[in-house]
Amino acid sequence: MSTNSYRNGGSGSRGGAMKFENYSNNNSKYSPSSSFKSKVQQSAAAASTLRRSSPGTGRDDSTISARVRVAVRLRPRNSEEMAADADFADCVELQSELKRLKLQKNNWDSDTYEFDEVLTEFASQKRVYEVVAKPVVESVLDGYNGTVMAYGQTGTGKTYTLGQLGEEDAADRGIMLRAMEDILAEVSPENDLISVSYLQLYMETIQDLLNPSNDNIAIVEDPKSGDVSLPGATLVEIRDHRSFMELLQLGEAHRFAANTRLNAESSRSHAILMVHVKRSVRGKTSPFSSENGNMTPMGKTLKPPIIRKSKLVIVDLAGSERIDKSGSEGHTLEEAKSINLSLSALGKCINALAENRAHVPVRDSKLTRLLRDSFGGTARTSLVITIGPSPRHRGETSSTIMFGQRAMKVENMVKLKEEFDYKSLSRKLEIQLDKLIAEHERQQKAFENEIERITLEAQKRVAEVEQNYADAFEKEKVKCQKDYMESVKRLEEQSAAKQENNGHKKFKDGLSDNGTDQKSNSQSQPPVPPTSSEVTKIKQKLNDEILLRKAAEAEVDNLNNQLIHWKNMESARNSEISKLRKMLEDEECGKAKLEEEIEMLQSQLLQISFEADQSRRNLDKRLSGEAPSSLDSLIPRVKDQQLREPGDGEKASVVKLFEQVGLHKILSLLQSEDADVRIHAVKVVANLAAEESNQEKIVHAGGLTSLLALLKSSNDETIHRVAAGAIANLAMNETNQELIMSQGGISLLSLTATKAEDPQTLRMVAGAIANLCGNDKLQIKLRAEGGIRALLGMVRCRHPDVLAQVARGIANFAKCESRASNQGTKTGKSVLIEDGALPWIVQNANNEASPIRRHIELALCHLAQHGKYLTAFYVYLIKIQDGQIYGKPKMLDFFVTEVNAREMINGGALWELVRISRDCSREDIRALAHRTLKSSSGFQAELKRLRIDYG
Ligand code: ADP
Ligand code: MG
Repeated sequence: MSTNSYRNGGSGSRGGAMKFENYSNNNSKYSPSSSFKSKVQQSAAAASTLRRSSPGTGRDDSTISARVRVAVRLRPRNSEEMAADADFADCVELQSELKRLKLQKNNWDSDTYEFDEVLTEFASQKRVYEVVAKPVVESVLDGYNGTVMAYGQTGTGKTYTLGQLGEEDAADRGIMLRAMEDILAEVSPENDLISVSYLQLYMETIQDLLNPSNDNIAIVEDPKSGDVSLPGATLVEIRDHRSFMELLQLGEAHRFAANTRLNAESSRSHAILMVHVKRSVRGKTSPFSSENGNMTPMGKTLKPPIIRKSKLVIVDLAGSERIDKSGSEGHTLEEAKSINLSLSALGKCINALAENRAHVPVRDSKLTRLLRDSFGGTARTSLVITIGPSPRHRGETSSTIMFGQRAMKVENMVKLKEEFDYKSLSRKLEIQLDKLIAEHERQQKAFENEIERITLEAQKRVAEVEQNYADAFEKEKVKCQKDYMESVKRLEEQSAAKQENNGHKKFKDGLSDNGTDQKSNSQSQPPVPPTSSEVTKIKQKLNDEILLRKAAEAEVDNLNNQLIHWKNMESARNSEISKLRKMLEDEECGKAKLEEEIEMLQSQLLQISFEADQSRRNLDKRLSGEAPSSLDSLIPRVKDQQLREPGDGEKASVVKLFEQVGLHKILSLLQSEDADVRIHAVKVVANLAAEESNQEKIVHAGGLTSLLALLKSSNDETIHRVAAGAIANLAMNETNQELIMSQGGISLLSLTATKAEDPQTLRMVAGAIANLCGNDKLQIKLRAEGGIRALLGMVRCRHPDVLAQVARGIANFAKCESRASNQGTKTGKSVLIEDGALPWIVQNANNEASPIRRHIELALCHLAQHGKYLTAFYVYLIKIQDGQIYGKPKMLDFFVTEVNAREMINGGALWELVRISRDCSREDIRALAHRTLKSSSGFQAELKRLRIDYG
């Protein structure tokens, strides 16, 4: 390909190639042609250039491939150019309908380039907004991230295009104002939130244009989502157009003041406007509602409402002309480098992306870190490159055009920034729960009141009946007694009256008979029997008595029956009460179950969210072709392993759910009765522990202690594996290492290693111990508690991942040992040699797995360096002068003892060192081995003895 031929439109599969040939006017020869790929598709709506990555209807549909769109804008000649270049033609010629630009190479030859849009000097601000920014703004309103950026030489109209305020003529308003107008017209003030930060990046320092005292803002990257944010920047909520205008004016004023203070030109700094759009998606909320008071089944269909958080970034870049490195602008060379750094890093990233290179140096500058989502990320990006017409700046114009051409090859994977609104779901669940509890309490109270009322009524009725009975009984008794007494009295009276009658009669009878027999007669006279009428009367009385008695008895029976009836009723009520009590207990039981289920669901959600995050990141990584992480780092592997188990398919992006559920809650789930919950919880904790930012919180909340306790108490290998992984991650930090040791961690890890069968469990345990091995302070204790033996014991499992961790531990330990011996805090032979590690080390020094080999190579160098002791011989010289004795020591000789050298030679380690110093592919290790051999007299002597010439 000739040097002046450029392609745009990415890889060769899209579109057909077209050739444009320039006719040379001097000798009828064709000039070198400029070849193109025709563009993907040309359409006014950006959406039509999109290609769906997955045709399904699921949420994955939210990821769409979209190329960075590039427009070129030509500034009209200014008065100076009109005067100075009046005789010269413009160095560019625009064919806006064909979307082509011709750049004059010389008088007879030009190169042709094709762009997504070609905007002539007559293009209005409105049209520029519509073709460059409007599709991006619309996409931001739909929930995608978006970037609009201007690139070009100072004075070509970047600020005019983006930041013009149009105070005098509203038609001059630039993209920033027009974008905000469109956003404000679309959002609803009740449901949506628009907030803005405005920043300047100069000499790799980010300053807040809304609060100038805030002049060194840090970029924070979410390790999970890769999203960058500036938590230190002022964020102002925008409600209307006027407040935004004022904010831009304020930013401009601060920018001017800051640059005066720094003695900087504003053309050397980048201005960055970030508009955060947060919208809740109506009509997509969950069917979770229970106005009628019925319980919603807590099934998996539970869907929280959805919110979209997108971001529009508008970047007015520094002038693209190179700063003079000679310092003629008053900058030192260092300053010049720093000023150029971000812009040249951006160029490098775009080159790497355009050429599909595996490594994109995003981390090289603050600008590229800030814009990582804009190029090769998930944002929809539109770039406007601005050029001037003057032939004097042809060089700069040409390099601007090349920049634009390369940017056109960058492909982004635009992704919907949508997430479940777990906060509001959680709030809803809480309200629901509160309602249920209140309703339950109300029912219980009413029920208790009813029972009390029924009991009181029953008691009252029983007491009433008893009282009635007693009264009636008493009355009847008194009446009977009275009747009886009366009858007795009447009988006595009757009997007395009868006797009297009899006496009179006898007297009359005696007067009529002789008087001799009177006495005997009176003595023999029998009592007169009562007359029959009296008998009947008495009988009648008796009958009456009997009848009365019977009536009384019947009354008593009746009352007894009533009593029995009331008692029956009471017992029926009692049984009803106990039935209701039982129902109450059942309800309470049901409530507890529901609460448990909610807990479980929350923990599952948490787990799922982390899984989703992980797979998304894996996907992102694969897409961006990031290089695999360093061999030493345990984090990504630990996570990978844990998350390999399948989720339920519902992959949602949740950034910090654990903040909502709460760390303490998650840690408390580690002790749950339910084994499933325990496993979920430990996985969640392990995931959290994989992020350095969470580690301190976890340890502070007692997570380390709980994890160690789990190792001790559980017999489940999955739990062992995950818990050990979490401990390994926590063990990367020095303070935590001491904590692990002081809490008996070594013996627990050793025990786990002895029981473990799964190589992944062993890898985690070995990883944890390997981390501890790197701590200078813990050397003695680690060995004393069997850490080294446990580590060496794990080589029984031949899995290379396990062996790599063992090797890393050995290397770490050997390094600390050699450091201690150099500082004089350790004497004697290496503990590793004493504990019998040398044969394994020698055996694996040339292991085919490079992680194992590298660690062992380092370990060997450290072992060889450690343990050199200097022994010196002194004499004490005495001199006697003028009767005084003077003395001073004088060194006669010294020799160096190398405590490890003998064992290493005998064990074959010398050969490995020689091999490393000659063959190792890593130059630093090769040099280290060489130095080590050269400086050791023991090794040198042995090499000499064997007549090996080691130069
Ligand atoms: P930059 O930000 O690239 O350094 P400016 O936006 O400050 O350039 O533009 C330099 C000058 O040119 C300003 O006075 C601006 O008003 C003017 N200018 C730039 N582009 C245009 C245009 N398209 N139409 C009219 N004037 C323009
Ligand atoms: Mg400018």
